Amino acid sequence: MPGDPIAKSVAGLKSSVSLPTFSQVIAAVNMTSNMTASGANPTEKRLYNFSPGPAVLPVPVLERIRDEMLCLPGAGASILEISHRTKQYIEIQENARQRLIRLLKIPETHDVLFLQGGARLQFSMVPVNLLRGAKDKTGSSPTVAQYIVTGTWGKYAVGEAKKEGAVETIFDSKPTNYDRLPTSSEISIREDAAYVHLTTNETIQGVQFQNDLNSPAPLVADCSSDFLYRPMDISKYGLIYACAQKNAGPAGVTVVIIRKDLLERSTDDLPGYLSYKNHAAEGSMWNTPPTFAIYTLGLVAQWIEETIGGLDAMLKVNQEKASTVYSVVDKFPKMFIGHAQKDSRSLMNVTFKFATEDLEKSFLKGAEAHDLDSLKGHRSVGGIRASIYNAMPMAGVKVLAEHMTEFATKNA
Ligand code: PLP
Repeated sequence: MPGDPIAKSVAGLKSSVSLPTFSQVIAAVNMTSNMTASGANPTEKRLYNFSPGPAVLPVPVLERIRDEMLCLPGAGASILEISHRTKQYIEIQENARQRLIRLLKIPETHDVLFLQGGARLQFSMVPVNLLRGAKDKTGSSPTVAQYIVTGTWGKYAVGEAKKEGAVETIFDSKPTNYDRLPTSSEISIREDAAYVHLTTNETIQGVQFQNDLNSPAPLVADCSSDFLYRPMDISKYGLIYACAQKNAGPAGVTVVIIRKDLLERSTDDLPGYLSYKNHAAEGSMWNTPPTFAIYTLGLVAQWIEETIGGLDAMLKVNQEKASTVYSVVDKFPKMFIGHAQKDSRSLMNVTFKFATEDLEKSFLKGAEAHDLDSLKGHRSVGGIRASIYNAMPMAGVKVLAEHMTEFATKNA
C-alpha cells in the first residue's frame, strides 16, 4: 500500500540503495523508536530497551520477520519449519555469510562459521582447538596461550582455557575492579604463544578496545558485545567469535571468523562438534544450524549494509550516541560516578554509579516513567548500565540523556 510506513521501512531493507547521509542514518536507526505494536495486542508499546543482551533489534528487521513468519517467499512454510537442506535456507545462510564478508571486508584467508553454544562454548573451543593443536618450535610439546583480562568475561575465558592447557594471564585489571585497558607497555606477547586472547568489549564493566591490536601471535578476540559496531582489520586476527544476541541478532547463533591455516590445529580426536575443522569442512552444516537465528542475523547485516550504509556509518552513529550519554556523565561528575576510566570507555555499555542506593532507586523509577527499560547494572558492578547497541535509536539515547540531566539538576 503506497504511503504505508511499514511497507516503506521493509522496502528500505529490500532495495539496494546508494549510501545515505549521516542524518538519514540517524533517522534509520530511529526507526526503532517507540511505536505501538500492530499485532494481537495493539495497546502494548515498545520501550527503549537498554538490555545488555538479548537486546534491541532494528524494527524493520522485526517487521520483515513478522511479514515472512507464515510463509517465507518461495518456501511454502515459515523459516521455523523448513529443512536446512532446502534451496531457500541454503541461500539465506549463504547470504548472511556474504553480508558479513562484505561488511567486515573479511579476506579470503579467513572462513566464517555459524555455531551454537554461545560465546561460552568458544571459551572452551578456542583452547581445545588452538592450544591443544599448537606445537612449539621443536614440533612436539604444546605452547602457552596468553590472556589479557579486562573484565568478567575475560576472567571466565581464562578459567575454561586453564582446563585445557598452559595459560598465562599477561594483564589483569582486577586490582582496579576492571576499570581500564592495558597500556602497550603493560603487555608482552610471546611470538611463540599458541594465541593471545582478549575481550574487545567487556559488557559488564563497560571497558572496550576500540582499535585492532598488533600481535606477533594469533590474536583471538571475544567480540560478543561489539560485533559489527565498527569496521575491523580482520587480517590482524587469528580468530574472532561473537554470540549474536547483543549487536547482531537473537540468541542461538555464534559467529566464528577463523584464519584458515588455524583449522589445521583441530586434532582428529576432538569430539565432533568441538572441531572448527569439521564445521568449516561442512559449511557450518555439520549438524543442523540454528536456522532462525542465522536468518535474523542475515537481516540485521542487511539493515547495516543497506539502510545504515555500512560499518563506517554505523560507527559514526555509535560514537554520536555514546558521546551524548558520556557528556552528561562528565557534566555531573558528583552525581554520575563513571566506572570505566575515560580512555577505556565502551561505546556499547555505559556504566556509572550513584553515591547512594536511594539515588539509584529514584533514578531507575524516573527512568521507568520515561519508558527507559533494563538500565540496572550487573550485580557485580552495581549502578547503571546503559547498553546502547547498534539498534538503539538516537531518540532513546536522547530521552536517557534528558532524564539524567533533569535528575542531576533536581538532586544536586
Ligand atoms: N562474552 C561476552 C563479552 C559477553 O558479553 C557474553 C554475554 O553476555 C558472553 C561472552 C557469554 O555469551 P553466551 O551467553 O552466549 O555464552
